[in-house]
Amino acid sequence: MSETIKPVINIDDIDYMDFGDGGKFQAKLGMIGPLIGAKKLGYNITRLQPGKAAFPYHLHHNIEEMFFIIEGEGVLRFDGKEYPIKKGDVIAGPTGHGTAHQIRNTADAELVFLAVSTLETPDVAEYPDSGKYAVICGDLAGGDPSKATFRIVAKKDAGVGYFDGESE
Ligand code: MN
Repeated sequence: MSETIKPVINIDDIDYMDFGDGGKFQAKLGMIGPLIGAKKLGYNITRLQPGKAAFPYHLHHNIEEMFFIIEGEGVLRFDGKEYPIKKGDVIAGPTGHGTAHQIRNTADAELVFLAVSTLETPDVAEYPDSGKYAVICGDLAGGDPSKATFRIVAKKDAGVGYFDGESE
């Protein structure tokens, strides 16, 4: 017997998982999309305590994102500039070079926002602060890295020549 998925849920009624490195990167992420039947978009609620960011500064080559600030204040780093953000702000996160982004809570109260993204696979992300990149293939809807069918995070300068190691 299949249970009908309701298309609506309240952000106070979802489960939040801890994400981060235990230091500067720390967030509570509440995955919503699959719970209410979303198929082509991923939705999550991100909750940041003061001083924290969920993810390093990064850009995407395939998925596009949108952020809506529900509560609190902070700063958006976007393509080398900083923008103050607050409740009610809508933020675009398009793809490609010139779109690197990071949301940080610089205030003294919780910052809460809705993050929406397309779910194209694979996604390729670049992390300008560290020179890393990531390739992620598979089901990105839940945001769970273990669902990826292929995932690598590496330094861009560790690449090899196209024909390296090939002899036949
Ligand atoms: Mn992003």
